Amino acid sequence: MASAPHLSSAPRLSVRNITKSFGTHQVLRGISLDAHDGDVISLLGASGSGKSTFLRCINMLEIADAGEIVVDGETIAMTQRGGRMVPADRGQVDRMRSELGMVFQSFNLWSHMTILENIIEGPVHVLKRPRAECIAEAEALLEKVGIAGKRHAYPAHLSGGQQQRAAIARSLAMKPKVMLFDEPTSALDPELVGEVLRVMRALAEEGMTMLVVTHEMSFARTVSNRVIFMKSGEIDCDGAPDTVFADGASPAFRQFIGNFGG
Ligand code: ADP
Ligand code: MG
Repeated sequence: MASAPHLSSAPRLSVRNITKSFGTHQVLRGISLDAHDGDVISLLGASGSGKSTFLRCINMLEIADAGEIVVDGETIAMTQRGGRMVPADRGQVDRMRSELGMVFQSFNLWSHMTILENIIEGPVHVLKRPRAECIAEAEALLEKVGIAGKRHAYPAHLSGGQQQRAAIARSLAMKPKVMLFDEPTSALDPELVGEVLRVMRALAEEGMTMLVVTHEMSFARTVSNRVIFMKSGEIDCDGAPDTVFADGASPAFRQFIGNFGG
């Protein structure tokens, strides 16, 4: 399990009372959470409960209708325009987004670039860092996720598990303050899930702050230090894995884990 957070420090990520509707369908009904340095929070919930929308609101791929996002003490400035909340400062959004690494179910590597080019793209072109330095760091990251031999390969020539490890390395190359994972192993053949979970476990052990939407119950139980169960756009249970997975958790959560043979 991830080490206990430093209680004295300000949260790395603070989400306050986020709401989001699509048309008349309210998908998020007021979600708040603080993630402190080193927290590994597993976000569980049935399909359609709002998990992806929640992560997408955090990094502003969707704009919440109301609420506040604070990254490392800096609040993302919002303003009203035409009766809707919109970011007040695009530059701030771009900067915040580079501080939040996002890993999707579908890898999302650039298919026309080699793995190494994928990894240095953000550091070189967004962060404007020296190319040679970015290459050296990228090679260390590829080593870390176990695909150093694939640096000059194109994504299509990698297995799904290798592509997802490359996608994680690409996110890490931006030196994010928080990593957001949206079902990172759900698109993988079962025999490839373990290699991705091992990389995520190692990241957690190094103290990375992580928010992980997952259906991997063993990851939620043994790697995360906190489990949040979402139900219909609300937080239904929230606590240490031992507590949440204990018999006292809500009926909806018991039914949910029952579906996983838990
Ligand atoms: P989860 O990730 O927990 O499966 P989602 O956040 O993807 O849930 O979706 C929650 C609900 O919001 C679903 O009913 C989904 O159909 C709806 N939804 C998500 N994105 C959009 C969108 N862009 N437009 C309309 N409805 C959406
Ligand atoms: Mg989803």
